[in-house]
Amino acid sequence: MNKKGFTTTNLHSDRLDKPEHGVLHKAIHTSVAYGYEDARKLAEVFQGKRAGYNYGRQLNPTVTALQNRITAMEDGIATAAFATGMAAIAGAMLALLRTGDHIVSSAFLFGNTNSFFGTLQALGIEVSFVDATDVAAVEAALQPNTRLVFVETIANPATQIADLAAIGKLCAQRGLVYCVDNTMTSPHLFKPKAVAASLVVNSLTKTIGGHGNALGGAITDTGLYDWSAFPNIYDSYKGADTRLWGITQIKKKGLRDMGGSLGPEAAHHLAVGSETLPLRLDRACANALAIARLCEGHAAVNRVFYPGLESHAQHQRAANLFHNFGAIVSIDLVQGIDCFEVLNAMETVISSSNLGDTRTLAIPVAHTIFYEMGAARRASMGISDSMIRFSVGIEDTQDLLDDFSRALDQALTLKSA
Ligand SMILES: *Cc1c(COP(=O)(O)O)cnc(C)c1O
Repeated sequence: MNKKGFTTTNLHSDRLDKPEHGVLHKAIHTSVAYGYEDARKLAEVFQGKRAGYNYGRQLNPTVTALQNRITAMEDGIATAAFATGMAAIAGAMLALLRTGDHIVSSAFLFGNTNSFFGTLQALGIEVSFVDATDVAAVEAALQPNTRLVFVETIANPATQIADLAAIGKLCAQRGLVYCVDNTMTSPHLFKPKAVAASLVVNSLTKTIGGHGNALGGAITDTGLYDWSAFPNIYDSYKGADTRLWGITQIKKKGLRDMGGSLGPEAAHHLAVGSETLPLRLDRACANALAIARLCEGHAAVNRVFYPGLESHAQHQRAANLFHNFGAIVSIDLVQGIDCFEVLNAMETVISSSNLGDTRTLAIPVAHTIFYEMGAARRASMGISDSMIRFSVGIEDTQDLLDDFSRALDQALTLKSA
């Protein structure tokens, strides 16, 4: 059978395993437990000798169907789904790392991931934060106890793009796990497997679910890393296929033992949302480029951060690696313009903290999601007090452009008054 396209594969994935009554959507299975006529079979499921369900914290058929979709989207070998993107990151890191280990992370990080890496440091896991737009900074930070390198594709909010391909080569040479948070690009714009990632993170809450109506997260193993080279795998998870050791430990320790499991209702919402991922994201990217160009030419705006602009420091890298430039646009306002005035003057754009929604959302980052880290760290990440991050949605382009023009014009008028 020919390999079908991304959207076709995703739309038809739920019918691959002969669903009950011929349903087109995988059913929402709410049962926590599963009964067996032969108790020996239940024991075999527990012992891993037979495939099957035992308890909802570990497995659920609706969640399994979503995991299979994500695996197919990322061209991976297996996926563990979690209740949120943060549960996925925390579950995977705590499952794989031990006190005395060291990881290298991009300094340009989602705020809660940054905060969680502080928790790892408190547990005795060393974390070096480096400018991952240049592989040399990552290489310089490596130590004998380095286990893993963590980067994001397009960083939030200043849209820096990690040196993804070169870091992949470096990790392969040094036998390091390469973990790429693909949330900002999603597998429609970029498959981290193409740059030799070992593990891929997706916050399903964002573009994949896409409607701001369900939380979820996923870790996908690309199958490229040979886990027999990783020192922290427990003997019980060392099965015949060494490629599966890592994801098995993530499922057993990070999911089963830590318990951040995805519920079946959320899995259903996320699966339905994912069906239109390419359509939504292509439109959002087109809107984002139009907005970025408008802002670039506006007197109220000091600087625009969008990888699709030729002025972006990693524009060429983004063009080479990604199918499109993403839906995040951030702006710095000129001196004397208050970001709150601009936000409050907008009618279509909603002040809200989420991203990857169908609706365009905006947030004053220094005062909200990056508030807790303090001014010094914000400055090192290139976040000014006037910065606004827009997660661009799928509205009609002209309506968004009208909203931006009006709000920015009004702020200029206020300033000169
Ligand atoms: C939102 C986000 C997360 C966390 O996902 P949640 O589902 O909100 O827990 C992780 N990484 C990135 C890049 C994100 O944008």
